Amino acid sequence: MGALPPFAFATLPAVSGQDEAGGRRHPVRLRPAARRVTLAGMRLIPLFAILAAGSLSAEPQLCDNRLFTVEAGDAGLRRQICEQSDSALTVLADCGLPKPDPVRVRVVEAFETDCVGLFHCGVGLIEVLAPEPMTERQADFAIFAEIPPRDFQASILMHEVAHAVLEKTPCPDRNCLVTEEYFAYMLQILSLPDADRDRLSTMLQGKGVDHGAYLNEFILLMAPEKFILHAWAHLSSRPDPCAHLRRIAAGDLSFDQDDN
Ligand SMILES: [Zn+2]
Repeated sequence: MGALPPFAFATLPAVSGQDEAGGRRHPVRLRPAARRVTLAGMRLIPLFAILAAGSLSAEPQLCDNRLFTVEAGDAGLRRQICEQSDSALTVLADCGLPKPDPVRVRVVEAFETDCVGLFHCGVGLIEVLAPEPMTERQADFAIFAEIPPRDFQASILMHEVAHAVLEKTPCPDRNCLVTEEYFAYMLQILSLPDADRDRLSTMLQGKGVDHGAYLNEFILLMAPEKFILHAWAHLSSRPDPCAHLRRIAAGDLSFDQDDN
């Protein structure tokens, strides 16, 4: 769209917490987090609760890009995720954003929580649902319901890769939840094919609305779809969206500081 590069978009809200390695975690959920717990409650989730309920036994495969290693039981799925990782790197490069450090991508059949994807800071690990359960979950989130499943799955990986990119960006505040999710969702949207991204754009209403006013923790957790749509409207209206994202990656822009 407009000044944006010719790539796409995509996922869902996430919350920060501590994972088994002591790093922050960034799950992508398909439902408003408030249905389950409050933000404060999320911090009380036992560490073991975020571990995948069942990962697919896997022969790790190093992708040709030498940055991603995929753990999945099916060779075709490993190849597919490697291709998705290539696409994610292209999205980052097209926006002048840095690559993440090496990442393992582990395909799981279920999460203990209602996540579809999860990034574990500090250990370079992304977990994503296998295609079939992820497709079942896709319908939970109305604004993504019509996206072809393969595009949706790729966008979830993009979302988590975006978190990996931000891993080394300093967070001077209590947390950087809003900034991190803005960044991850916007890259997710940018990773979608034009038709899918344009479909989201048509959902935006209310010209003259201060979209930045919706970019806060309350909206993110209570009405994640609203957060995503307003974030997309906000980014789309920037003179140079990629420069905007680069400022976030550089630590020069934080929505958690009301610096939007
Ligand atoms: Zn996220």
